Amino acid sequence: MKTIAWDCPSCKKFCCVPVQAGALICPHCSENCGKVDSPDFFPTSCPRCTCSQFYLVKDFNQAFGCLIMLIGIVLVPRTYGLSLPAMALLDWFLFRRIPSAAICYRCGAEFRDFDIPKHIKPFIHQIGVKYDRKRK
Ligand SMILES: [Zn+2]
Ligand SMILES: [Zn+2]
Repeated sequence: MKTIAWDCPSCKKFCCVPVQAGALICPHCSENCGKVDSPDFFPTSCPRCTCSQFYLVKDFNQAFGCLIMLIGIVLVPRTYGLSLPAMALLDWFLFRRIPSAAICYRCGAEFRDFDIPKHIKPFIHQIGVKYDRKRK
């Protein structure tokens, strides 16, 4: 299910709603937080702040990845070192299966389960800094 998540500017609560055409309403305080034009496609501009730049993240739990590597290391004496490549492979496999989300550079809204266009890349620090300055 496609969802949009953001921090409501009015009640400061975290909102996460299924995408549907129309106004983006805060489920906590009913504040109108923006507008969704085409719920079937990834938005060309953020429904919240109209910014058109997004970055890609993997919904991958870092701690979980570390745990996999740790298990690999613990098993080294028993598997003559074979556990390491095996765990690295498992890690890679899991990572590939993790769905990605896109985040708006300007307001931080999160878009999940969309078909994210190929031109959206992982976080680029220079662009992030640009928007950080704008926010202040
Ligand atoms: Zn609210
Ligand atoms: Zn935005």
